[in-house]
Amino acid sequence: DDDHALLAGDPDALARAASMAPLPVLAVVGRPNVGKSTLVNRIIGRREAVVEDKPGVTRDRVSYPAEWGGRNFMVVDTGGWEVDARGLDARVAEQSEIAIGLADAIMFVVDATVGPTATDEKVVKLLRKSGKPVVLCANKVDGPRAEADASELWSLGLGEPYPVSALHGRGTGDLLEAAMKALPTTSEHGVAIQQGPRRVALVGRPNVGKSSLLNKVAGSERVVVDSTAGTTRDPVDELIVLKGKPWTFVDTAGIRRRVHQTQGADFYASLRTQAAIEKAEVAVVLLDASVSLTEQDTRVISQVIESGRAVVIAYNKWDLMDEDRRPYLEREIEKELVQVQWAPRVNISAMTGWHMDRLVPALERSLESWDTRISTGKLNSFLGELVAAHPHPLRGGKQPRILFATQASTRPPRFVIFSTGFLEAGYRRFIERRLRETFGFEGSPISISVRVRE
Ligand code: GDP
Ligand code: GDP
Repeated sequence: DDDHALLAGDPDALARAASMAPLPVLAVVGRPNVGKSTLVNRIIGRREAVVEDKPGVTRDRVSYPAEWGGRNFMVVDTGGWEVDARGLDARVAEQSEIAIGLADAIMFVVDATVGPTATDEKVVKLLRKSGKPVVLCANKVDGPRAEADASELWSLGLGEPYPVSALHGRGTGDLLEAAMKALPTTSEHGVAIQQGPRRVALVGRPNVGKSSLLNKVAGSERVVVDSTAGTTRDPVDELIVLKGKPWTFVDTAGIRRRVHQTQGADFYASLRTQAAIEKAEVAVVLLDASVSLTEQDTRVISQVIESGRAVVIAYNKWDLMDEDRRPYLEREIEKELVQVQWAPRVNISAMTGWHMDRLVPALERSLESWDTRISTGKLNSFLGELVAAHPHPLRGGKQPRILFATQASTRPPRFVIFSTGFLEAGYRRFIERRLRETFGFEGSPISISVRVRE
């Protein structure tokens, strides 16, 4: 990750941190069983066996940080959902469409031993329509003899098929090299690039009340459907005026359509969530106040934080809260939501509209933190005082000395500390805590990287 790259003194990593380029996104798409997950495992160097030779294996995580040839990027794996022969075409098409939408480049995987199928052709149509760069992976080419199979895939009209064995690693170097050429140096959905109304994603597991909340905010206020002003770029986004200011609610089509799938529903939800996050600057994570937190809830929160977006936690269905549950809920928040203690929390009811007026101020607070820049002078006097009062613990008679720090970027704030040695994770967390105590950053993730100088 960037930390390691920075530690290794990689100038590109520093430049990237400094320019705050959001990581470009590579989506791996294709029919079930062509080897997408196997390939993703190989790309990210994942060891644990998430690929099993039976249908019905589902995962929920969709995106992973990866690095190849000195480039950092995110890989989106669409191979985590269950295979259902009925309606397969439609499912593949829909999943692919979401993945294509959120990606900057696509790796399209075809099973070379089977050859192109009708389903593959459907995906090809979507790929063409998107106009996004595509790298064609002819998978399961385990040996030289199968290479002839791969060349048949020229017929898809997507350019050169790269013969690969995801299972054994054969040919993956060339494939990734091509993928790196296809990926832009910064994400197209670049949070730092776009101007205009601030972009909000409503995220949360199915049934927490996303569509109810969307209807409430859209219903009470003016919804701007006309996109000719050039403010909404995407028909799935909605421009909603709240408190006299326009906000873009991203990826609302998915919320409105309310597709409820039984099989692979979790994975599908995660993919949607990731798509929304990629396009947003701030995410409202909806939680259901009337029931206990689930793993899926905390996963959504992690997705938002890992993507470096600003956060507002909205406890919905507060109308169902009974007072006996209240202390239990507070304990749960303290225990389960430690990773976002810093996020503003609003208790709302999307049904009754209770406390809806608190949403916008919370969004504004989080975004302000997300945009915050601490001057180098302030930062270093803060660090100087902190280090004087609480030096890094001695380890083996040695003590890394902090030389200098700078805020490399905003959105979210990222700090780079130059020191004479590695700083322990505990000490970095301590610095983060103090940074927050001193400067706030309510609602924004922040990151600290260390760069070792001799
Ligand atoms: P996904 O559904 O597209 O994610 O496919 P998986 O990654 O789950 O792979 C489906 C099956 O194909 C598994 O049994 C894999 O072991 C197998 N597989 C994947 N890649 C290769 C490959 O390069 N060669 C061979 N022979 N089998 C592979
Ligand atoms: P989504 O799947 O996240 O879009 O959730 P929905 O908006 O479809 O809501 C799921 C269910 O929860 C529906 O039956 C809603 O009427 C109900 N619901 C949503 N918000 C509230 C709320 O604030 N209070 C109560 N009591 N029910 C709610």
